[in-house]
Amino acid sequence: MLDAVVVGAGPNGLTAAVELARRGFSVALFEARSTVGGGARTEELTLPGFRHDPCSAAHPLGVNSPAFRALPLDRYGLQWLHSELPMAHPFPDGTAAVLSRSVAETAASFGPRDAGAYRRLVEPFLPHWDTLVRDFMSLPLTALPRDPVTLARFGLAGLPPATWLLRRFKDERAKALFAGLVGHVIAPLGGLATGAVGLVFALAAHARGWPVPRGGSQAISDALAAYLEDLGGAVHTDYEVKRLDDLPPARAYVFDTSPTALARIAGFGDTYAHYRYGPSVFKIDYALDGPVPWTAPEARAATTVQIGASKDEISTALRAASREGRAPARPFLITVQPSIVDPTRAPEGKQVFWAYGHVPNGWSGDLTDAMERQLERFAPGFRDRVLARAVAGPAELAAHNANYVGGDIACGAASGLQLLLRPRLSLFPYHTPHPAVFICSSATPPGPGVHGMSGHNAAKAVWRRLRQR
Ligand SMILES: Cc1cc2nc3c(=O)[nH]c(=O)nc-3n(C[C@H](O)[C@H](O)[C@H](O)COP(=O)(O)OP(=O)(O)OC[C@H]3O[C@@H](n4cnc5c(N)ncnc54)[C@H](O)[C@@H]3O)c2cc1C
Repeated sequence: MLDAVVVGAGPNGLTAAVELARRGFSVALFEARSTVGGGARTEELTLPGFRHDPCSAAHPLGVNSPAFRALPLDRYGLQWLHSELPMAHPFPDGTAAVLSRSVAETAASFGPRDAGAYRRLVEPFLPHWDTLVRDFMSLPLTALPRDPVTLARFGLAGLPPATWLLRRFKDERAKALFAGLVGHVIAPLGGLATGAVGLVFALAAHARGWPVPRGGSQAISDALAAYLEDLGGAVHTDYEVKRLDDLPPARAYVFDTSPTALARIAGFGDTYAHYRYGPSVFKIDYALDGPVPWTAPEARAATTVQIGASKDEISTALRAASREGRAPARPFLITVQPSIVDPTRAPEGKQVFWAYGHVPNGWSGDLTDAMERQLERFAPGFRDRVLARAVAGPAELAAHNANYVGGDIACGAASGLQLLLRPRLSLFPYHTPHPAVFICSSATPPGPGVHGMSGHNAAKAVWRRLRQR
């Protein structure tokens, strides 16, 4: 009998499997698709030689993840590539606010009226970042906080809605950039703890940047899978699990799936019936004839570029998709241009470019024109560089990955208490009604993103249970 079977080879399933295997447990992993990776994959979606990331592309959470940092992933080919600036937020007048590795450079880009407020916001946390990120990503209670004082101070700053935190700033530059950071988890700015979301992304940039993996985000998944196999773990692809009986006998089962799918597979009835799925995204992968012609020079020097002219424009777009059930007329866009630092991603002189805007769950329209009108405001001539597009709305995203229910790329709405306490109100979110069945997907804390911490925390719950027995 195996010690553990893991279902789903996304970053969390792979991390859970690795964590168990490196502690001497026998592990087998089963993935529905023909390759490992889930939301961290790389494929030739458009033209030969153009290597696109259909899902994650920029990895502030990955490079800062305590779980990934403890694993020898560099030995398995993972190499983080950094652009001159981690992130830029251009404005229609051709200027830009930036997230730089340097707090001073970032603060200066906000202008004199907000530079001091920004420094006062982030500087107290930076010397404690390594313990803070570990404590924060281990909530609730998978590890005792190493620095409870800093964690409590972070809670005081971050638990209120981002709208409170934004009041510290006077001008649009800081407000728009910070509002955009909250948009990365598709949360409306007025939601509980959304201030913490913005703070985490800003601190991550100062601590270790927002890099892209050389070769694409598949490199993260391939490194985890190769390490797992070296540890004796087995990886089975093209194996969709529909019932627990589909799996070999094991002492523990760990699901990197949505709570809804887990309930169906394990016969948990309405255990997760309360669980809410959130808005989706409309994603376009572009093959370009050359770099994006950004007006702001800073945007040419950053792998990640946020597009939203003001805090209000971003807020209106987030509210339309998450609260009002309609696509925004002027979508807030997150864009990534990995090939400005990674020549392996596109033929010489060409670029891959990735952009998404937010749309309601299950939305069936086409956002291409609205997205490209936004891009043209900040990069006139963008459309002339397009060689090919691969477009994915909610239906395509859901068809590609069962965890994206209705196209929700966060595997559950990141709003209300569900941002922090998911998939149910419990101090033991990785446990399920069955003592041998666990859940480790981004439907568990610390939530969406490629960081493996849900997998790491769930594996801890599993190995504690296995050792008890
Ligand atoms: C368009 C897009 C852009 C994103 N951008 C970023 C980004 O830039 N940075 C970032 O950090 N994050 C980003 N994310 C989010 C990130 O990809 C996810 O949060 C992350 O992949 C979640 O990891 P996971 O392991 O929980 O689940 P997933 O990565 O979704 O993996 C789940 C796996 O389980 C498999 N599976 C599901 N059900 C079954 C079953 N019944 N049997 C067998 N296998 C099953 C699926 O096929 C899949 O491989 C993005 C996501 C999308 C879609």
